[in-house]
Amino acid sequence: MFGKGSKRRKGFQAHCIGRGGSVHENDPMAAFPEGKSEERKHQNIPNGSGASQGQWGRAWEVDWFSLASVLFLLTFSPFIVYYFIMSCDQYHCSLTDPIVDVLMGNSHLSDIWNKTPSLSWKAANIYIFWVTFQVMLYILVPDFCHKFLPGYVGGVQEGALTPAGTVNKYEINGLQAWIITHALWFANAHYFHWFSPTIIFDNWIPLLWCANILGYAASTFAMIKSYFFPSNPNDCKFTGNLFYDYMMGIEFNPRIGKWFDFKLFFNGRPGIVAWTLINLSYAAKQQELYGQVTNSMILVNVLQGIYVLDFFWNEAWYLKTIDICHDHFGWYLGWGDCVWLPYLYTLQGLYLVYHPVQLSKANAVGILLLGLVGYYIFRMTNHQKDLFRRTDGHCKIWGKKPEYIECSYTSLDGTKYYSKLMISGFWGVARHFNYTGDLMGSLAYCLTCGFGHILPYFYIIYMTILLTHRCIRDEHRCSSKYGKEWKRYTTAVPYRLIPGVF
Ligand code: NDP
Repeated sequence: MFGKGSKRRKGFQAHCIGRGGSVHENDPMAAFPEGKSEERKHQNIPNGSGASQGQWGRAWEVDWFSLASVLFLLTFSPFIVYYFIMSCDQYHCSLTDPIVDVLMGNSHLSDIWNKTPSLSWKAANIYIFWVTFQVMLYILVPDFCHKFLPGYVGGVQEGALTPAGTVNKYEINGLQAWIITHALWFANAHYFHWFSPTIIFDNWIPLLWCANILGYAASTFAMIKSYFFPSNPNDCKFTGNLFYDYMMGIEFNPRIGKWFDFKLFFNGRPGIVAWTLINLSYAAKQQELYGQVTNSMILVNVLQGIYVLDFFWNEAWYLKTIDICHDHFGWYLGWGDCVWLPYLYTLQGLYLVYHPVQLSKANAVGILLLGLVGYYIFRMTNHQKDLFRRTDGHCKIWGKKPEYIECSYTSLDGTKYYSKLMISGFWGVARHFNYTGDLMGSLAYCLTCGFGHILPYFYIIYMTILLTHRCIRDEHRCSSKYGKEWKRYTTAVPYRLIPGVF
């Protein structure tokens, strides 16, 4: 997130070789004596593997802008989340009314705070049970889904090579955890009746305090652990700036024991397993309050459900994405996964409890189509790159042999690697068309809420900023990795997200 502002980075050194075989050097290459390079011809290094990882996302030195951003986020993010949830609880999801109320003197900050539900034993018990249950599903129940679900990759899988040269093994059982959790949820709602399906909505603010406690505890523990008992000392990055290190993480893959991996656990569970349960709880609340569930609420549940299921179906593939194979584990991931994701990604469902929207048939179908087309683009673009990289280009994309630009880069130890950038399929339409599909899906969720308030549109605004920033930091990294060949690629595929626009 703040990598862009760093003054100096260490990692691979880029130089590029064109199709004709001529070598072009970038500045950093000069740091290496010639002849030290050992060439590895035609070797394709999958995304995120090899020396390139040392370069990604996490600075070695922190400039004032990065530090100011870190301090701002550490201080205000919990209040931002609180403000959104409190606005729904006390002001029917109006983001402006609380400010107007306070400025007009109708209300004091202390009045708002006093009306806010505090931490309760009930919420603490629910949360402890929830997290313990997810930990148990994660570490105690080896995956069995891959044994009977054709095409699903689960069980023990390898992650990408870390900068220190480690390849971690992961137990991929997120889909199984999701299925078991949801089966129990439905069994309870329709048969056992141990608790009300509105339990999450009914304790939403007290649960927010619990989620914050876990988010801060996990990040603080990860920081202390990186100083005293890191899982792999060579994969730690210390900038010397405590705040930056706390936020962006020091350890790359903190673990307890052989299998409890902080990044995989917090990234997927408890937050993403909870996402669909939270939406179900909102639907149950609508039913309780209004005697029916609106089509907008069903759309939110279905479209976000597809996205969540896709995440778990492809959990092994996510081991090779930026979150897992480039980011270190700090507050950004720990607190973000515990608080930011479950509370802010589910705002549409929360809004629909306070403002039940019944969409016309035409609008509902239009939104469904936007969401499904967005999902299709998102999934197919990711699939095309995965297929292309796995087969080293020996595959068919849209019925034809894919075209690509060949690149090379050199790692710090002087080893030269080759890679390929595809310019066929969706990767020929725009350089990050997977993000475009993601954004179309995100817009569809928001549109289900109509145009009464800005609050449910937070998601598309946030995702646009997040993915645009991600585009820029990814391209910054690829440009220094592939040098002039990256320029050739950007000439062949000139747009990032929307052809002709950006
Ligand atoms: P990508 O899957 O887009 O991977 C980017 C990397 O792919 C580049 O660094 C480069 O790596 C390689 N690459 C770039 N161009 C090409 C090409 N033309 N041919 C082959 N390889 C190429 O990025 P992410 O990991 O960020 O995203 C994964 C998915 O996760 C996306 O679909 C995104 O929408 C989604 N996402 C969702 C979020 C959410 O909160 N909902 C947050 C973030 C992501 P290399 O060094 O190997 O060349």
